[in-house]
Amino acid sequence: MGADGGQAVERPAAETGYQPLIEPKTGIGEILAPVAGFGVTLSSMFRPTVTEQYPYERVPTKPRYHGRHQLNRYADGLEKCIGCELCAWACPADAIYVEGGDNSADAQFSPGERYGRVYQINYLRCIFCGLCIEACPTRALTMTNEFELAGPTRAGLIFEKADLLAPLQAGMLAAPHPMVGGTTDTDYYRGEVTGPEPEQVDWVRQHRPDDPTLPDSASTGSRTTTAERGRTR
Ligand code: SF4
Repeated sequence: MGADGGQAVERPAAETGYQPLIEPKTGIGEILAPVAGFGVTLSSMFRPTVTEQYPYERVPTKPRYHGRHQLNRYADGLEKCIGCELCAWACPADAIYVEGGDNSADAQFSPGERYGRVYQINYLRCIFCGLCIEACPTRALTMTNEFELAGPTRAGLIFEKADLLAPLQAGMLAAPHPMVGGTTDTDYYRGEVTGPEPEQVDWVRQHRPDDPTLPDSASTGSRTTTAERGRTR
């Protein structure tokens, strides 16, 4: 009906300038058009089922799947995070909170001057885009393939540093402890530290004699010496 109560008059396409992109169906095509959508349903009925029976069957994720974050360590156990906050600034969802702290002779958590004293990721906000990973200058922050992050409370989805730190691998020494003698943070970044040296073990034994990461014997791996480095290059 028109605005004046009369019958609406359909104006010719040439008059309105409207040109349909799809040719109108005619004949048998016009008759079957209303049920044509069922063709997709019918053809799908004979394809193999692809439903994943999660959580009864866990299908592995792709290797580069963006899952829960991890704060990595160097081979001697020191933390890679230097508390620079670049990941927090890069985050488009404002999901990361970092507070840096100063390393000291008695409490050296990472190579160099600073370490990540407070580190939180709010998984209620995180969109797993990975921009934080790109921003990290020390490769401290990476993403694991872990995706089962649901929880019963909102507070439980704010992960603290302790939740995100990579577990200590065999041979690593829990931080804090001094850096390998004679090295700089650059040596660490270059991968020239291959494990704790005896002096670090002695330091931990002296300050935390009950530390479970202390080796039974004082023999440990160590950094590649300058001479050894020269041989391998
Ligand atoms: S995780 Fe990387 S980018 Fe974030 S504060 Fe630590 S060092 Fe900086």
